[in-house]
Amino acid sequence: MNTLTVVHDFDLSGYTTFGFAQKAAHYVEVETDDQLADAVQLARDEHWPILPLGEGSNIVLTQDYNGLVIRQTGQRIEYVSLPENATTTDTHSIARTVNDKGTHSQTQANVETPIQTLTNAQTRTQTETKTQSLANAEKRVQSDSELQPDKPTQAMSRRMLVTAAAGVNWHTLVMDTVNKGLVGLENLSLIPGLVGAAPVQNIGAYGVELCDRFVSLKALHIQSGRWQTFTIDDCEFAYRDSLFKRHIGQYIIANVSFELGSHIKLQTGYGALNQYLDTHCVNQAPTAAIVSEAVCAIRRSKLPNPAALPNAGSFFHNPVIPAAQYTALTKEHPDMVGYRQPDGQYKVAAGWLIDHLGYKGYCHEGVGVHEHQALVLVKYAPATGSALLALANTIQTHVLRVFGITLSIEPRLI
Ligand SMILES: Cc1cc2nc3c(=O)[nH]c(=O)nc-3n(C[C@H](O)[C@H](O)[C@H](O)COP(=O)(O)OP(=O)(O)OC[C@H]3O[C@@H](n4cnc5c(N)ncnc54)[C@H](O)[C@@H]3O)c2cc1C
Repeated sequence: MNTLTVVHDFDLSGYTTFGFAQKAAHYVEVETDDQLADAVQLARDEHWPILPLGEGSNIVLTQDYNGLVIRQTGQRIEYVSLPENATTTDTHSIARTVNDKGTHSQTQANVETPIQTLTNAQTRTQTETKTQSLANAEKRVQSDSELQPDKPTQAMSRRMLVTAAAGVNWHTLVMDTVNKGLVGLENLSLIPGLVGAAPVQNIGAYGVELCDRFVSLKALHIQSGRWQTFTIDDCEFAYRDSLFKRHIGQYIIANVSFELGSHIKLQTGYGALNQYLDTHCVNQAPTAAIVSEAVCAIRRSKLPNPAALPNAGSFFHNPVIPAAQYTALTKEHPDMVGYRQPDGQYKVAAGWLIDHLGYKGYCHEGVGVHEHQALVLVKYAPATGSALLALANTIQTHVLRVFGITLSIEPRLI
């Protein structure tokens, strides 16, 4: 067994973007797969429930956690070029080889594999073992120039398998791939959080979801302690959803593999992105770097920075309702925002519903609704997770009463 440093009665206030002051009965940081397996074994021996914690940007702590919080810190990013004619089966088998090699004794970010053409991946090492989400978010904003796309460092193969450890910051991974000239993740720039959490809710933005680039992931089954590989068919990805979200607490994701490269078509059709490129990048053929820059600029202008105003991004899912209900509602509210789905139902903008009820800028007991983004609940002043939950419930009840629509909460409530 590897040596694990378990801290008891651990203050989590700096470990979620809302920063609510709750404690974990036990807390451990793990860097390698072996350490992760040992931590899970320890929790099983002690009958402690387990909470995998990334950057806490999609978790709301409303009480102390009476179990073991596990934070993964591994920073490995691995690049393997795929043969041009590789089939899905070939890609899965190459990903499995990378996974099987594992991170059993990893100590650094860049790893070479024997498979083929590799470039150095991550240059950032994990210097902050006890990272604090708020401090991190702030630092990231301050040092954004470090993470801006620059010229591709090296010509990359057309098709590249990129495997990142759960502890890698998501935006750092995106920038690393963009800087290498790889197309695929640019629309997902600047989404907070770690790689390990990204498949849990199948993160998405500006017309792209994680599942669009996903190859496979490696996860530890908590109850049996067995490692499993999941391909896209196993993950049951859906809008902000996956098997890992539906069966929360069963698996801890250790690494995630993506296929990226010039064979992927840039996605620039999404409203705000399209408009931005039309206005700011006239006469320039978009590249992954340009799209990433555009996405970062739009996000910075629209979303409150959690380091300055604590929040967890969108607090509610956009509800999907039957066409008949949508038609009836739009008769009464002609400006209601909704989008027809492939199955004929309508996805309604939850932000519009909340805004229409006058909640923008509302504040009660330190928590409230962002003044410009009705979908984002924020902490305006020292407050508790319970106050936030009470506000969320008030909004849900109000929306249900007026529109007959049930809003569901996006972040995980503890
Ligand atoms: C300002 C802001 C903007 C955002 N924008 C977007 C957006 O555009 N699109 C989008 O999809 N999301 C968005 N989010 C939500 C959030 O960034 C994502 O859900 C992100 O993937 C959460 O990562 P995290 O590391 O913070 O996870 P955490 O909040 O720490 O955890 C989230 C969930 O994943 C579980 N988990 C964490 N790590 C693992 C692991 N290794 N294995 C298994 N389970 C794990 C946790 O137990 C928890 O249930 C936004 C959030 C904020 C604050």
